[in-house]
Order: sequence, then structure tokens, then C-alpha cells
Amino acid sequence: MLRNFSVLGLLCVVTSGAARGSCANCCAKLASSLPGKVFSPDSAAYEASLASYWALQEQLITPSCIVSPTTAIDVSTALKIIVPDSCKFAVRGGGHGTAVGVANIEDGITIDLRGIDTIVLSEDKEQVAVGGAATLGDVYTYLAQYGVSIPGARAAGIGVGGSTLGGGFGYFAPSQGLAADSVAEYEVVLANGDIITANQQSNSDLWRALKGGGSNFGIVTKLTFNTFPLGEVWAGDVFFSVSNETVQSTATALYNFASNPDYDENASVFVLYAYQNAPVVLVEYTYTAPVVDAPVFDEFEAVPGQLLNTTAVTTIPTLSASSQAQSPSGFEQITFAMTFVNDEQMILEAYNIMIAASSKLTGVAGAAIGLTLRPIVPSMIRPDDVLGLEVPAQGLIQTIGSVQFNLTADYSLMNNVADQMLSDLEAAAKRLGVYNRYIDMNHAKTEQKVLEGYGSQNYELLKAVAGKYDPKGVFQNLMPGGFKLLWVEFYILAPFDSSDH
Ligand SMILES: Cc1cc2nc3c(=O)[nH]c(=O)nc-3n(C[C@H](O)[C@H](O)[C@H](O)COP(=O)(O)OP(=O)(O)OC[C@H]3O[C@@H](n4cnc5c(N)ncnc54)[C@H](O)[C@@H]3O)c2cc1C
Repeated sequence: MLRNFSVLGLLCVVTSGAARGSCANCCAKLASSLPGKVFSPDSAAYEASLASYWALQEQLITPSCIVSPTTAIDVSTALKIIVPDSCKFAVRGGGHGTAVGVANIEDGITIDLRGIDTIVLSEDKEQVAVGGAATLGDVYTYLAQYGVSIPGARAAGIGVGGSTLGGGFGYFAPSQGLAADSVAEYEVVLANGDIITANQQSNSDLWRALKGGGSNFGIVTKLTFNTFPLGEVWAGDVFFSVSNETVQSTATALYNFASNPDYDENASVFVLYAYQNAPVVLVEYTYTAPVVDAPVFDEFEAVPGQLLNTTAVTTIPTLSASSQAQSPSGFEQITFAMTFVNDEQMILEAYNIMIAASSKLTGVAGAAIGLTLRPIVPSMIRPDDVLGLEVPAQGLIQTIGSVQFNLTADYSLMNNVADQMLSDLEAAAKRLGVYNRYIDMNHAKTEQKVLEGYGSQNYELLKAVAGKYDPKGVFQNLMPGGFKLLWVEFYILAPFDSSDH
């Protein structure tokens, strides 16, 4: 590997007393139990799986083998081999995560869930059961035929499983809540291979923990969502020529939009302040009904300097595909997330922090940095999830940092750029008294303490649920990718024996 992946650089062999196996052994056992579904580094299927990750740094990680289950039983079979042999593993859904090693593992086993992608709509169209690695584009397209949808994340290639386990802010969050809030039931394969369902009546503690708790409890093979009726929408991007006036006007418009006491729940926007050879200001609008130029966007539409306006009546599948096309794969990507209480001064500081960081990009091939500012408004909040979001009347601004570049050789430099932006944002928010503890898991940087940001009550709940359903800490220790609870007793891995299965 080209980079030091700290914990991911650990050997595949995990010791709990004596060494308990190796990845080569695990791969051989998997190949014999799941014939035709285990791929080694010399195979085309292995190469194709790696090439399909969105971020280059994930494509460059080379597992010992890749397992491609197509059913929950396959996943169970795989865990019953991997876990007792203490092999390190990663779980891959849609492959759009950016935290290093989030869904792939050097010298370990990568479980590529993409074969688990069925989509089944109930007869009354009120629920849809979706395979753990179906993509949002496929789900939106399938459901659009029936005039319904689910409140998932934006880009078509994103995995439903990964994005929903992290919360999932999307087009419909103001009216429907987050993706996780619409999940009525999860099918989960636990560390010991048991396949269970979690809903409000059965295993309800796990059901709740999965609504934002990430990959700390098991491998999710099916998510059953409540649907809602949907027809056409109005949406698109507006690009502006950048001037002090544009920046000031977008900041004022964003503040007023998010703090509007009569917030229109069909409407959502984000403002992107970016730098790619030059500063960029972009506003993305979505109105979840075919209403052109709804009055709620008036203040944004009055911002001077419009260069290009792509807004139109469209459909969610089209919008989602276009969102994906605007974010091509194969680049090095670093993202981070922070949240602040809606405040115009802080919005302007965010722009200035991004501009200050742009001075470090000279000579970096393909360098682009950006801060996406998205309102979190009170109507998005539901009681069942574990994110611990408390939204004041003026709203919160979720801030997503992105740093993109071409070459792995620039990783260290660009990682410093990301770290600097994040610490400057946090410092500014604290100075202005608008810092909020919430960190969006779906865009967090590897080392950000996402789960602690849910508040101590939710954090304790997550630890208790993980301790109950994964008492030996398999998803903490053997599966290092993702945002972990990592409480200290789980560092000491108890030995496995046949009674575990
Ligand atoms: C272009 C682009 C646009 C985006 N837009 C949005 C957006 O609008 N809203 C939003 O909320 N996020 C958005 N995201 C972020 C995205 O939601 C996260 O990156 C998410 O983690 C991706 O899930 P995945 O399954 O595709 O990724 P992966 O990298 O495959 O998985 C991410 C994590 O989830 C785990 N995981 C995945 N599936 C399962 C499963 N079935 N069971 C257990 N663990 C699983 C993996 O182990 C890994 O830890 C965007 C990302 C990109 C690249």
C-alpha cells in the first residue's frame, strides 16, 4: 500500500492468546463453502470490485480475497468462517464512503454486498423491502413507476445500506425526516451468524441503534422502508459569478431560508462554496412537487450574478442520476463534517476559511475543495433515531467539507488542508458560540468522533446494544472500517469456540 493506514495496517492474523488463523486460510474455507462467490487478486471479478469504489483511496486497498454473497444465508455462512478464525474483514455496500478503509481492507476479507440488491414493493405500495446494497438510483427508478419513493440520500450510486445506517439526509428530509427514520424493519446478520429482524416490536433496541449507529452491530441484508407518494419535482443548480456581493447575499439568503418560522417542507437548498482554479458559488434547489420558482426560493433567486441555471421540472431518478454524474469516481477524496447553529457571520466565515485553504492548492493536480452548507430544520427531526439532533428555531447548518485531487502522492498535503479547514471551522463556530456537537457520519473524516457527537445518552445506548448483540466485539475489532464505538473492553477479544454458533 502507498499509505500508512494505522489500524488497518495491522496483520490479518489477530491474536487472542495464540494466533487463530490467517486470511489465506479464511479465503480457502470461504471458497469451499461459497463456491463461485469468492474472488482472489488474480481474478477479473476482484479487479472489477475494486475499480467500482467511488474514491481512489478505496480502490487502492487490496484485500486477500473478496466475498460476494447474494443472500443473507451467504453472509451468515461467511461470518461463521471469518469470525471464529479471527480474520479481519470489511463490509462494502455501494462503495461511496470516503473515510480511508471504511469499506475495504488491506490483507483482510472484503464482503462485497452488491449481490444483495433486490427491491420488493408491497401490494399496497406502502412499504418497500430493499437489499442491503441496492443503490438509491435503482430504488428511486423502481419506485417511480408506482408513484412512490423513500427519503434517501442524493446520488444514484450510493448504497441504501451504508447511507441509511449513517442517517441519510436527502431531498425529502424536511417533509419525511432522514432515510433512517423511515425504516420499519431491518434484517441483520449478527457476528455469530444468526439472521434476525429488528423492528419496533422485536429487537427494538437494535432497530433504534441501527438508525444512525452505523456498522457496529451486524451486517444489514434488508431494509424495509415506509414509502410516500411522489410525482414530479422541481430542482436544479444555479451557478453564480463570485463577488463579495454574491457571497454576502447567499449567506443572508441561507440564514433566512433555514430560520424561516413558516418553513415550506417541500423545499430544500444547499449552498456550495468551492474552489477549483477559481472560487465557485452554487446553490442547489429542490422542491418536491412540480412547482416552478416556488416563492420560498425568492431571496436566492434575487442574488446577483447568475451565470447558469439548470432548474427544471424533473423526476427524482433523473435528478439522482445527474447528481451522480456531477461527482465522478476515481479521484482521491477526503470529506469531513461539522455542524453549527444557523448564523450569518459563521456562514461568511466558512467561505473565508475555504478561500484561505485554496492558497495551499498550487501545484496539486486536479485539486478542488468545497464546503457544502445544508440547513437542518426542526421538521427533519424524528424521535426514533439515535443522532441526538436538537434543532433550535433558527435551524442548524450541516457543513460538509470535500477535498478532491488526482494523485495519491498529494494525500498528506491535502489531508493537512482538510484538517486545517475543519479545525478553523470548529474554532470559528466555538468563538461565535454556534458550535454544535453533531457530526454527519456519512461525510465524516476517518478520525472524527461521530458517535460521541450523538450525546452521552445515545452513545451509552449504542454501547449497550452492541454489547448485547455483538458481545465479543467482532464489529469493533475484526471489522475496523467505519465509525466505531471502540470502548476499551472490546479491545480484548474473547476467544471463540464452537458454542458461539
Ligand atoms: C457523490 C456522493 C453524494 C452523496 N450524497 C449524500 C447525500 O445526499 N446524503 C447523505 O446522507 N450522504 C450522501 N453521501 C454520503 C454517503 O451516504 C456515504 O458515503 C455512505 O456511507 C455511502 O454508503 P455506501 O453503502 O455507498 O458506501 P460503502 O463505502 O460501501 O459503505 C459505507 C459504510 O457503511 C457500511 N455498510 C454499507 N452497507 C452496509 C450494510 N448493508 N450493512 C452493514 N454495514 C454496511 C460499510 O461497512 C462502511 O462502513 C454522498 C456520497 C457521495 C460520494
